[in-house]
Amino acid sequence: MTLAEFVDRLRLIRLERRMKSTFLAGVLGVRIQTFSSWECHGKSPNEVNLTAWAEALGVPVPDGIVARPRVAHCGTLSGKRRHQRLGEPVCAPCKKASNDYQAAWRASRRSS
Ligand SMILES: [Zn+2]
Repeated sequence: MTLAEFVDRLRLIRLERRMKSTFLAGVLGVRIQTFSSWECHGKSPNEVNLTAWAEALGVPVPDGIVARPRVAHCGTLSGKRRHQRLGEPVCAPCKKASNDYQAAWRASRRSS
């Protein structure tokens, strides 16, 4: 089972129990926007939140389901963001990745 599938399962269990998302967000101590970003927008909760969420519903967390902390690599969009976050100059591979991404984004806007 992937993390996304497990999150979907947690969402279905919540719905079955007619538990309000606002209530569950309150139990977990997160904002409702954060909670719905996990349920509806494919954002991954961190391990602490995922465990608390599963516990609140009485579901065991499958082993190895939580993504490892990811390291942003150069030549990717997240690599560029890491440079910016650290206040570093953006290196050439990252700059190219960002330009490619923006070009693809503009192309997708034109075609729609
Ligand atoms: Zn870089």
